[in-house]
Amino acid sequence: MAEEERTLIVTGDGKGKTTAALGMAVRAHGHGIPVAIIQFVKSDVQTGEFAALSRLPGVEMFVTGRGFVPPEDDPRFGEHRLAAEEGLRIASEAACSGRYGLVILDEGCYAVARNLIAEELVLRLLRERAPGVVIVLTGRGATEGLIAAADTVSEVRCVKHGFDAGLKATKGVEY
Ligand code: ATP
Ligand code: MG
Repeated sequence: MAEEERTLIVTGDGKGKTTAALGMAVRAHGHGIPVAIIQFVKSDVQTGEFAALSRLPGVEMFVTGRGFVPPEDDPRFGEHRLAAEEGLRIASEAACSGRYGLVILDEGCYAVARNLIAEELVLRLLRERAPGVVIVLTGRGATEGLIAAADTVSEVRCVKHGFDAGLKATKGVEY
């Protein structure tokens, strides 16, 4: 029998969502479980996590976003939506292929919240995954439907963030 199918969400407005998901990637990798990480919204490959995880055999990372998401009535929004659709295509392929035991949709919740991808398509991905695949979604604003479909949901609450006091993004901390 296949192992339990798990769906986990890390949402909320505090810092630590992506890093929690990447921690699970490291944990799974340590057990020899192949991992796919699909980053929505983000476009930066000059990050410590990309450099580190791309080196690990059995871990694949796809950076599919276009950066800061403009309002829906902005002419550039369509480009962001196309990028997110391509990310979802990669994620669906990864989840259904049976090649990975852990599939992370980083900023997947936020992509749904910002209307870049339809919630229903993500729910379909969850239903159609290969047996036993664990799926993790991160990002602010997890929608009710995604929360209902997950077995484990954590909300990271911002108590304070250094950016608000003028601190700059720090190597090894934010990227
Ligand atoms: P991390 O990648 O550090 O785990 P995250 O995934 O929880 O953070 P995101 O919502 O993806 O955070 O935000 C991306 C960037 O914004 C990160 O550099 C993060 O440090 C920063 N950030 C997160 N929460 C806040 C906040 N409450 N105020 C300002 N910046 C934030
Ligand atoms: Mg994040």
